[in-house]
Amino acid sequence: MSTTIEGKTYWRSLNELSQTKEYQQFLHREFPENASEMTDGQTRRHFLKIMGASIALAGLAACRKPVQKILPYTKRPVEIIPGNPIYYATAVPMMGSLTGLLVQSSDGRPTKIEGNPEHPASLGSTSALHQASILNLYDPDRSRFITENGSKKTLTDFSSAISGLNESAKVVFISEANSSMTYDSIKSSVQKKFKNATWFVYEPFNSSSIELGNEIAFGKRLRTINHFDKAELIVSIDDDFLTDPVNGVSNTKKFTSRKKLSTSKDNLIRLYSVESSLSLTGSNADTRYAVKASDFDAFVFALASSLATKLSGLDTFKNFSNEFSNSVPVKTLSKELLSAKGKSLLTGGNSLSKEANAAIALVNQALNNISSTITFSQVDSTGESLTDFKQVIDSVKKDGADVLVFIGTNPIYTSTSDIDVAGAIKSAKTSIHLSDYVDETSKLCSWHVNRSHFLEAWGDGKSFEGVESVIQPLIQPLFDSISEIEFLNIFATGKMVAGFDLVRETWKSRAISQKEWNKVLHDGILDNTKMYSSISVSTSSTAASKLSDSLKKAMKLSGDTIEVVIKSDYKLADGRFANNGWLQELPDPITKITWDNVALMSAATAAKIGLPHVAANSAEHYQNKAPKISIKTANGSITMPAWILPGHVDNSITVSTGYGRLGVGRVASSYEFSDFEVVGFDVKPLRSSSTAYVVSTSSVSATGETYKIACVQDHHSMEGRAIVRYANIDEYKAKPTFAPEMVKTPGIKPGKMFADPLFTEQSFPDYEPQWGMAIDLTSCTGCGVCTIACQAENNIPVIGKKEVSRGREMHWIRVDRYFTGDETNPGVVFQPLPCMHCELAPCEQVCPVAATSHSDDGLNQMTYNRCIGTRYCANNCPYKVRRFNFFNYTKEYLTTGNDPEVVQMAMNPDVTIRFRGVMEKCSYCVQRINRVKIQTKNETGKSVKPADGAVVTACQQACPADAIYFGDINDSSSKVAKMKANERNYRLLDELNTRPRTSYLAKITNKLTSTVTA
Ligand code: SF4
Repeated sequence: MSTTIEGKTYWRSLNELSQTKEYQQFLHREFPENASEMTDGQTRRHFLKIMGASIALAGLAACRKPVQKILPYTKRPVEIIPGNPIYYATAVPMMGSLTGLLVQSSDGRPTKIEGNPEHPASLGSTSALHQASILNLYDPDRSRFITENGSKKTLTDFSSAISGLNESAKVVFISEANSSMTYDSIKSSVQKKFKNATWFVYEPFNSSSIELGNEIAFGKRLRTINHFDKAELIVSIDDDFLTDPVNGVSNTKKFTSRKKLSTSKDNLIRLYSVESSLSLTGSNADTRYAVKASDFDAFVFALASSLATKLSGLDTFKNFSNEFSNSVPVKTLSKELLSAKGKSLLTGGNSLSKEANAAIALVNQALNNISSTITFSQVDSTGESLTDFKQVIDSVKKDGADVLVFIGTNPIYTSTSDIDVAGAIKSAKTSIHLSDYVDETSKLCSWHVNRSHFLEAWGDGKSFEGVESVIQPLIQPLFDSISEIEFLNIFATGKMVAGFDLVRETWKSRAISQKEWNKVLHDGILDNTKMYSSISVSTSSTAASKLSDSLKKAMKLSGDTIEVVIKSDYKLADGRFANNGWLQELPDPITKITWDNVALMSAATAAKIGLPHVAANSAEHYQNKAPKISIKTANGSITMPAWILPGHVDNSITVSTGYGRLGVGRVASSYEFSDFEVVGFDVKPLRSSSTAYVVSTSSVSATGETYKIACVQDHHSMEGRAIVRYANIDEYKAKPTFAPEMVKTPGIKPGKMFADPLFTEQSFPDYEPQWGMAIDLTSCTGCGVCTIACQAENNIPVIGKKEVSRGREMHWIRVDRYFTGDETNPGVVFQPLPCMHCELAPCEQVCPVAATSHSDDGLNQMTYNRCIGTRYCANNCPYKVRRFNFFNYTKEYLTTGNDPEVVQMAMNPDVTIRFRGVMEKCSYCVQRINRVKIQTKNETGKSVKPADGAVVTACQQACPADAIYFGDINDSSSKVAKMKANERNYRLLDELNTRPRTSYLAKITNKLTSTVTA
């Protein structure tokens, strides 16, 4: 039964909505499979393989021996206290921008990534990609040495080969976007030295359409910087800004800063989303319109036309009309934007044409949003269009090159079907690839050079808004690798120069004093107010003529043809994170699918294709046996599983990149068992350079085969109770206490807060802090960063697709996604769920050996070496937050293989590794609590009550929405106590009188209450 509270229906999957027989069976079988696999060697080997590549494993034999630099100290440096980690400021580069980080170093090795509170792109938080990037450092599948035509070579061999190049050689560089000042200066030297060099910045997913749109509108190629914190109304046309790998943390911070409600009198930001598939941004929208991606341009022009009659500066669109012109979405958005002039923000994604993005820029100008909610900066391009890339590759293929150099990019996998990168490599006399893995491109190039991880190398760069930072390494390169700047410097000088010297030289040449340099290293930034300067704009005289052809084309919509929309994957991006087990196993925030990509579509489109067995009422859908379909386009065809996603627009299929990679690493590429051969499906054949993001299909049909998907959306169901609670702002204002009053707890006597317990109540001493957590569902965007942060902090194992499909995922904090309302365009509510730390914990009552019990500071603790694995506690937990080690997921791995010592070094030394047969669950990061309590005791001499905010859990620290509050609930001045006193605060399943220490603040949406008619 899906939940119905005060007329609202909540459901997690189509199977729950339709209450299939199989769904009912699954609910009543919490641990669905027996444990016979414990002795099954094949199964054991399988997870060991995943674990082996998923948790830190750096080959000792292959490590560069740290000569001279790392020596045991005979006298302990004052700053090092054994057992106490040290934090260093550094930054993570991503697609041409940096985000500031603080990285925890435990006894000389990086063990955990946090955001840098001083850095404006982070403000102390991180994304899932940032959190998981530490796992890439310890990935045993990373490339370990330089090769020439497959033979091992030294750095000296490579340097000699490059220094021998003729300066008139035709050298073609294809590089990733890079904001490094040092890189730029070396690049200039390289270009000066090699007069015939050409340089192309290649990022398969970039912002070129937005930048070129600004060029059409204002005559200058500009970067758009959206200030979501300054807007009252946001309209996003396919801009999934919350998941932007470059600036998503900052976007989320800014957006959710306008979603903090103290009382019902406060105002909320309003977000509209127009998109084809349900994205994370769309699922956080107050109102969402599903539109085919092929029709985005038509929609934007219709909106601009509707506004043109009321605003000056939009004459170009005045006479435009199409089917959208009188539609409810266009009329509503037009009315809303007009009423929020100067305080609104219209934003478009890169999947829109540059002309549609030009229209968006002109509308923002007409609405007086520029300089208010939007600014522009003139910066180097962070990637050109794929059609431009095709031209470069075609010219190398045709005319040849002396040297073709790829810096970090992997275009053999990431480019499109019509870009013959392999042909260009063949035509070049020499080809060189600097990369993390011996990947698809490396395998075709004559030279492969292994690249350092950012935690191993010196570097520098700028944030999306231009704040400068230094990247400082925390460990020597594990595999004798070199960084981009060291690599490039070999071209410039023929010599290997250490990255530190190169970066230091750049900063010296910019008149940065030693004192400022020390400050940069300490703080991670030079000056957080020094950003790119803001550029003023005015409409270009050629804008109208450049838009006229597109306007003519957009008069007619795309009709019933099925389109395919290709997106960069939220977890694996363009494939660069494909060998990362944490990310592979993180459920997709919307579909809740792990370890695969699927073809998403609406139920109506599935029926049109002839897939009755995945229709809403079908048992097959629940069984996760997704039917495979063949998708054919003019560019090529692929076969992949179909999946119905509520809210997906009809006649449209959405697929994501990053999967289906072969021979790259053990996580990304191959499985031991025939039913799980490769992780996901490569969608490259569908794409061409001119139709890289949206392409029409020539046919879509069922193949008759099915494919097993590991989807967790029905796992850990709480079966129809009032789990998530939400209201629109008008309902909230009418009844501010709707959430706690939604469900009545039986047996509460007058004047009492709780009902009498069945069991003896534990008393908690006054001298101890009493820990509790509050999670604000209005702020939570459902991004899942808390899940990864918790995994990194608490040594939580990766278990692989097969185990996940059995319902055995180990995440200590899961993010439940509930749909509400209509299946064709549902609302979405996310709810992160850690252990509730109930004061009257049902788990404790049934443990026969008292392995789970309460601490004086209110924690529901697990004593691992007492646990005998009966799993009674998990069965008795109404919140389904306990996880069981069906295998020695971690221990076997930590004591096998070539490098057990190094593997052990990679774990968080403050957290116990759990064995087979042991139950585990969220501990509120007890290791962090105790460290701060000890510090407090040392400082005060007696009190163990830390100051408010001194203890920060891993999930709380990482959360970019600042949705999680933690602290002493007995201290009425603490943030968490204040949140718990809020009128929206409610306790989950309070009617069971478990008295959970974790509580929730109900979600409030801000939908327009008046109706607009077509
Ligand atoms: S609570 Fe978790 S899922 Fe929600 S916004 Fe924070 S990190 Fe993301």
